[in-house]
Amino acid sequence: METTDAVVIGAGVVGLAIARELAMQGREVIILESENAIGTATSSRNSEVIHAGIYYPRGSLKARSCVEGRSLLYRYCEERSIPHRRCGKLIVATDAAQLGELEAIRGKAHANGVTDVAWLTLDQAHAMEPAVSCVGALHSPSTGVIDSHAFMLALQGDAESHGAMLAFRSRVKHARVATTGIELEVGGDESMTLLAASVINSAGLTAPSLARSIEGFPADKAPPEFYAKGNYYSLVGRSPFSRLVYPVPEPGGLGVHVTIDMGGQARFSPDVEWIDRIGYDVDPGRAQRFYAAIRRYWPQLPDGALAPGYAGIRPKIAGPKDPAPDFVIQGPEEHGVAGLVNLFGIESPGLTASLALARDVARRLH
Ligand SMILES: Cc1cc2nc3c(=O)[nH]c(=O)nc-3n(C[C@H](O)[C@H](O)[C@H](O)COP(=O)(O)OP(=O)(O)OC[C@H]3O[C@@H](n4cnc5c(N)ncnc54)[C@H](O)[C@@H]3O)c2cc1C
Repeated sequence: METTDAVVIGAGVVGLAIARELAMQGREVIILESENAIGTATSSRNSEVIHAGIYYPRGSLKARSCVEGRSLLYRYCEERSIPHRRCGKLIVATDAAQLGELEAIRGKAHANGVTDVAWLTLDQAHAMEPAVSCVGALHSPSTGVIDSHAFMLALQGDAESHGAMLAFRSRVKHARVATTGIELEVGGDESMTLLAASVINSAGLTAPSLARSIEGFPADKAPPEFYAKGNYYSLVGRSPFSRLVYPVPEPGGLGVHVTIDMGGQARFSPDVEWIDRIGYDVDPGRAQRFYAAIRRYWPQLPDGALAPGYAGIRPKIAGPKDPAPDFVIQGPEEHGVAGLVNLFGIESPGLTASLALARDVARRLH
């Protein structure tokens, strides 16, 4: 049996950030990834927004890791020349009844330390985004966009240059808590058994079921697993937007909003569709709901301007009727298994928060 110091399960943005952090601290790290490339799951199926940290309850792990992660991420992007743009975003109220919600969002942002979120006058909002129709708007100057694949490649490069090994087509099929560590049965091209002193379960959508399947892990400590798909539609033709535009949030998500990729292409993203099985098809029939939602703040959206794009799935750990849960990072003090850290429910803003989450995991392993 092979032995190693630390295994990270999953080469999404969070797993890669953790592997980088541990490798840079001098630990021997192996990253096991079931697919044949990095970031093929949720990490390449998101809005690529660097969130400011506005929406999350004060003191929550989402709020703290987003605010810390955002400043670490901007610094990292600048140091490593990762394409990104601090373009800012507007959050708009489209009827007077939503103005109170905007004020509550501003209050939440300030409570989270995001004190640059400010009201705009209607003239200012119109000057920034002439196509947008609204009765009130907040501006978040520290929101931005990033080339998430370039970011993941940089993380992989850092991890590997500090000695980490990345094994593709290496699915963790089974695990068992042993006296000297955690034994992992790895499938794929070169199946093997590995004994690791530390295991970080960063398997995204299936992290809870993977944790539950570990022999010797108290199964009741793993939360339930739910999937909430977010469908994206691209805007055909030239974008009238130069920054991101969000409505007030809807239950389960942030509402159908405009994001802009690094090439300036606008996309409308994502709605909330609860599903039972992982699948990424975008149903063209959902377009009508998008037209209706977008025309509330962009009435001039032409017919036929939306093309089905891609979809991502939020790794939910609570159902549609439950309150939005926080990120969960669970170490030995929570579940009693030495050397094991689980990450559950790392939905948005996990991309923004990844460098901060990695520091948190490393601290728990000390
Ligand atoms: C629709 C949508 C929009 C979003 N938009 C944003 C945004 O704009 N900004 C932001 O900050 N965040 C956003 N997020 C959140 C962000 O994308 C995620 O938090 C982040 O990508 C999670 O990364 P991860 O590494 O935890 O998971 P993943 O990217 O899912 O990676 C998990 C990896 O584990 C591998 N794996 C699974 N099981 C096993 C196994 N048994 N053995 C080996 N490997 C395994 C998978 O193949 C996968 O590669 C969004 C999420 C969604 C769904």
